[in-house]
Amino acid sequence: MKIKKSLLIFFFVFLFSVSFFYAKGAVLENIRYFTYKDYTRVVLDLSSPVTYTSKELKEKNRVRFFFDLKNTVLSEKLKKENRIEFKGSYIREIRVGQFRKDIARVVLEFKEAKDKRYFTLLHPFRIVIDIYGKNAKVSVVKTNKKLKNDKKETQFKTGTPEISGEKKYSMARQLGLTVKRIVIDPGHGGKDPGTIGRYYKTKEKVVVLDIAKRLKYYLKRYTKLEVYMTRDKDIFIPLEQRTAYANSKRADLFISIHANSAANRRAYGLSTFWLNFTTDPHSIRIAASENASSQRSIWELKSLLKKITLTSKLIESKIFATKVQYSTLYYIRKYYRYPDYRVRKAPFYVLIGASMPAILVETGFLSNKTNELLLRSSRFRNRLAFGLYKGIISYINSLR
Ligand SMILES: [Zn+2]
Repeated sequence: MKIKKSLLIFFFVFLFSVSFFYAKGAVLENIRYFTYKDYTRVVLDLSSPVTYTSKELKEKNRVRFFFDLKNTVLSEKLKKENRIEFKGSYIREIRVGQFRKDIARVVLEFKEAKDKRYFTLLHPFRIVIDIYGKNAKVSVVKTNKKLKNDKKETQFKTGTPEISGEKKYSMARQLGLTVKRIVIDPGHGGKDPGTIGRYYKTKEKVVVLDIAKRLKYYLKRYTKLEVYMTRDKDIFIPLEQRTAYANSKRADLFISIHANSAANRRAYGLSTFWLNFTTDPHSIRIAASENASSQRSIWELKSLLKKITLTSKLIESKIFATKVQYSTLYYIRKYYRYPDYRVRKAPFYVLIGASMPAILVETGFLSNKTNELLLRSSRFRNRLAFGLYKGIISYINSLR
């Protein structure tokens, strides 16, 4: 009965959104791309949500992906530069044109493509297209039929992409995979300061970069891991580019480092997030602020996440988050009192599209006086980084 009801609601929401999308035209504002040796991410920036169809044409030495965006016109900028060429790369070119009066067409041409993935992000509306080359390492979870079916069943029953991590043994574990490369992502940067401290105006972007650098130091000093950072200075990087970078490096783990704030001045402590849909108001609020979007749009992410859960390493991410959370708390608590704000799930844009276990650590609350003072202390940040390092090691050891 419950299922029927939710299906019905879904159907009406679907109808509503379709008619809404058709009601007014959209502009394809810009095309951004991040291309690497075996991996390319293309982002289509649109002025409002659109429906689109995609098709694939394979010929010898040539693969083309067509995207027809309905009720869409090209921006003046794209009308002028309707072709981007890539010489000597596995991606050949991106073309854009007004296919029909009301249909804009984007064509991506590759020499070869092993796998592809599309998804949309909201506010502003973006279509993200990931194409993997022949030699790219693509998520193993996809090929695991049993796991895939398990997840489908879970989704159908509950209506949300809920996963009980403990019950199912993930593919990474079955294959005894090892971790070689890790990408550390210090949140925000450049024009985006992140959260600002309530009492001392501490900038999140500064604090998290320092913690990330210390974490990198420990990993380099005590392990043989290859460690990469999405930024090592005060520069702005779009959210989509951060996971694209991790995918391009073929990273085995992704850890995004942040600090948050709350209306409740007493809130303080550590929480670690993994990607999933949530109904917890606290998590929704944090995700909205990290995504630089409205809380409503978090609800709209629900159907996207249903698709994502089939291809992302969510079970591993949850285990990774748990290891990092409790190890970090353990090492901090040797010297400081620090509350456990728990392991939580939320739809963070920066984690969407990552093909490796990926987590986001909220190191503390800049809205609490004590917590802000702690995050301003280099000794505390060092302790925190040491705890994160120990957590990563403890996760890697659990894979063996
Ligand atoms: Zn942040």
